[in-house]
Amino acid sequence: MNKNINIIGSGASGLISAIILSKKGFKVTIFEKNSKVGRKILATGNGKCNISNQNLSLDNFHSTINTFPTYAISQFNYKTFETFFSNLGLVLIQGDGTKVYPMSLQASSVTDILYNEAIANGVEFIFNSFIQDIKYQNNLYEIFFENKRYISSVLIIATGSCAMKKLGSSNSGYDIAKQFKHKIIEPFASLVQLVSEDKDIHRLSGVKVNSTVKLFIDNKQMQTKSGDVLFTNYGVSGNAILDISRNCSYSLLKNKKVKLSVDIIPDIDKNKFIKILENRKKLLPNKEINFLLESMINKKLIPFIFNRVKIPTIKQYIEQLTKKDLINIVYHLKNIQINIKDTKGFENAEVVAGGIDVMDIDNKTMQSKLQKDLYFCGEVMDVDGECGGYNLHWAWASGYIMANSIKL
Ligand SMILES: Cc1cc2nc3c(=O)[nH]c(=O)nc-3n(C[C@H](O)[C@H](O)[C@H](O)COP(=O)(O)OP(=O)(O)OC[C@H]3O[C@@H](n4cnc5c(N)ncnc54)[C@H](O)[C@@H]3O)c2cc1C
Repeated sequence: MNKNINIIGSGASGLISAIILSKKGFKVTIFEKNSKVGRKILATGNGKCNISNQNLSLDNFHSTINTFPTYAISQFNYKTFETFFSNLGLVLIQGDGTKVYPMSLQASSVTDILYNEAIANGVEFIFNSFIQDIKYQNNLYEIFFENKRYISSVLIIATGSCAMKKLGSSNSGYDIAKQFKHKIIEPFASLVQLVSEDKDIHRLSGVKVNSTVKLFIDNKQMQTKSGDVLFTNYGVSGNAILDISRNCSYSLLKNKKVKLSVDIIPDIDKNKFIKILENRKKLLPNKEINFLLESMINKKLIPFIFNRVKIPTIKQYIEQLTKKDLINIVYHLKNIQINIKDTKGFENAEVVAGGIDVMDIDNKTMQSKLQKDLYFCGEVMDVDGECGGYNLHWAWASGYIMANSIKL
C-alpha cells in the first residue's frame, strides 16, 4: 500500500493532522501556498493566539447540520486539547474568562512548536505551492508541481476558508471539493465589522464603549450581546459587534433589514438614570445643556445624543429641560439605533460561515462520502465557531479525529 499522504494547507488543521499522521508512520507532504506555515494562526487573537476555550459546547459552533461537530468536540474536548499541546511543550494560560492562550501570548510560539514537531517527525513542506488541480486515477491522487509528481493514497484538504485572502486564504478548497462532486453551502463573512450609512455614527469614529447590543432583523429582536462597541468611520466594530455579525451577515445575504440598538449605559437602570439627571438638573440649572452629560459619557457622544433627542435650540440651559426631555435623553443613551447596510466582507472577516456541505462528509472521520480516501479538516467545511478560541478549536478537533481515523 502507498503510505504517502498529501495535505493541502499548513494552517492549524493541516499541521495537527500532519503531526499525528507522521507519528503513525505515514510519509506526509504538505503543500503550502505561503512561504511559511500558519500565517493565519499568527494573526489570531491580535497576535496572542486565542487557541481554545475551556468552556466548549455544541452551542459555540454553527453548521447547516448543527450536530455535525458533536463527535469531534466530544472526542477532542478541552482535556484532550490540553494534553495534546502540553505534550508538545506548549504552556497554556487562561485569560479573559475561559479563553486560552499560550503563556508567552505570542502566536508564533504555537506555529514554531507545531512546525518543529512536524519537521522532527519527517513531514515534508513544499512552500510557495498553490495547488488547484488534482488528478485521481488507479486509486491514487496525483499533485503535479514544478515538474514533479506527488502521488498519495490519501488526500487531505486543509485549505481553510476564503476569509482574509492577504493571509493566504483562497477559494481553492471549495474548487477542489467541487472537482469530486461536493456541494458548497454559500459562504458568508462572520466575525466581521459592520457597515452603516448613518452619517452621525461615522462622526463618532474612535469612540469605544462597553455596551449591550440588541440585534433586530426585520424589526424583530433576534440576539443580545454585551461587550465593547467601537464606532468607526464606516460603522461599528468591537467584540460585541463581531459576536452578532454572523446573524447580521446572513440576514443581509437574504436581503433582510438589519438594525442595532446600542445601550451605552448598560449597568444603570433607566429609572435610576432619569433620577441621576433630575438631581444634576437641580445641582447645575444654569449650565449649558451639554453639561448635563459631561464626565458621564465620552465627550464625542454628548452632541450626538442631543442631536438624536432633537432638543429645540431655544433650550440652552439645563433648567429649561423638562422631565420629558430627560426621559428622552435616557431613552437615546440606552437605545442608539444603527441601520446596518453591509459587512466589511471576506477581506476583513476572521471567519467564513458556509463552505463544503457536511452532508457529504462522515463526522466521525471527516472522510468524503462521495470520494474514496478524500478527507477535509478545519474551516473549509461548513462549520464555524463563535469568537473566543472556538474556530481554532474546530481546526484542531477536526484535524485530530480525522488523522486518528486514518489507519496504516
Ligand atoms: C485576524 C484573524 C484573527 C483570528 N483570531 C482567532 C482567535 O483568536 N481564535 C480562534 O479560534 N480563531 C481565530 N481566527 C480564525 C482561525 O484563524 C481559523 O478558523 C483557523 O486558522 C482555520 O484553520 P484551518 O486549518 O482550517 O485554515 P488556515 O489556518 O487558514 O490554513 C489554511 C492554509 O492553507 C493554505 N492554502 C489555502 N489554499 C491553498 C492551496 N490551494 N494550495 C496550497 N496552500 C493553500 C493557506 O495559505 C493556509 O496556510 C482568526 C482569524 C483571523 C483572520
